[in-house]
Amino acid sequence: AEDRIFNFGAGPAVLPEKVLRKAQSELLNWHGSGMSVMEMSHRGKDFISIIEKAEADLRTLLSIPQDYAVLFLQGGATTLFASASLNLCNPGDPVDYLVTGSWGDKASKEAKKYAKVNVIWSGKSENYVRIPDFDELEQNPDAKYLHICTNETIHGVEFKNYPTPKNKNGIIVADMSSNFCSKPVDVTKFGLIYAGAQKNVGPSGVAIVIVRKDLIGKAQEITPIMLDLKIQAENKSLYNTPPCFGIYICGLVFEDLLEQGGLMEIEKKNKKKGETLYDAIDNSNGFYRCPVEKSVRSLMNVPFTLERSELEAEFIKEAAKEKMVGLKGHRSVGGIRASIYNAMTLLGVENLVAFMEDFKARHG
Ligand code: PMP
Repeated sequence: AEDRIFNFGAGPAVLPEKVLRKAQSELLNWHGSGMSVMEMSHRGKDFISIIEKAEADLRTLLSIPQDYAVLFLQGGATTLFASASLNLCNPGDPVDYLVTGSWGDKASKEAKKYAKVNVIWSGKSENYVRIPDFDELEQNPDAKYLHICTNETIHGVEFKNYPTPKNKNGIIVADMSSNFCSKPVDVTKFGLIYAGAQKNVGPSGVAIVIVRKDLIGKAQEITPIMLDLKIQAENKSLYNTPPCFGIYICGLVFEDLLEQGGLMEIEKKNKKKGETLYDAIDNSNGFYRCPVEKSVRSLMNVPFTLERSELEAEFIKEAAKEKMVGLKGHRSVGGIRASIYNAMTLLGVENLVAFMEDFKARHG
């Protein structure tokens, strides 16, 4: 629509216009119920049909096998930092963390409260620009799991393949918040996947969990009931009042992703967008620079700096005048960051690239 602008924010982020329009058309009277999804009982048949369809569509998108539970929870991905160790470890059990950015770092720090964390590799001293060779990692065979963050939202570092877990149970736990549903993923490689919804699949307030069912049911005694994945699974995410409206929007997004042809099609679009933007950076003769090693550059969050850093504030200001917002880098790293999640169109990326070229011509 005319009055919509290009939102490159990292999350909450742009949602498909089609989804927003559908939600608008159903807002006052969902499917003849005479009320909005916000107003209906979470135990009534209407909402049950909404959450069941959302789950079924997500299972189709990611080919999630029946021995995995799918949960729609609250507390954001940050709460799952704690839930992972609370559910999968006894107090003091060893766990391995591979830290490729500040979200993995945060996850490891939270887990220290409930398990014995070993950071087996951290890119911090190099400002998180790469992922190590998996062969050089020393994993602990007794670790309960290996934790990774598949896409570091702030540093723009994304796993293109995954390490083989060397712990006895073969468990990888993955924070997929910022690349969830951006490409196909073999769920069976993971014991636990979690993601905040507010980047690729919905509004904030929903945290999605995909967990192998045999791993749950042994939560530490101190685990708050809301964080006990077994309780949540047994109650189909309805132990208490869930974030109903958010789950409904996620469901509309899943439907839209299926209509677009599924995650292989989505990945193709994301690759095209990523290529377009990274090419513009790499072909700028150093006017723009992306610090991340090429092989692991994120297709979701593209961080870059200007050779003349004093121009960055001007870049952000002028971009906003051209209806492109959300481009300021995270407060911890500065620079520019363009988040180009599923719902950012190629047109939006092309607009940004045209602006970057024009800005360079005027200031280069
Ligand atoms: N993990 C990653 C990779 C993230 O990008 C974020 C949020 N930006 C979080 C965790 C924290 O998510 P939440 O705000 O939902 O707790």
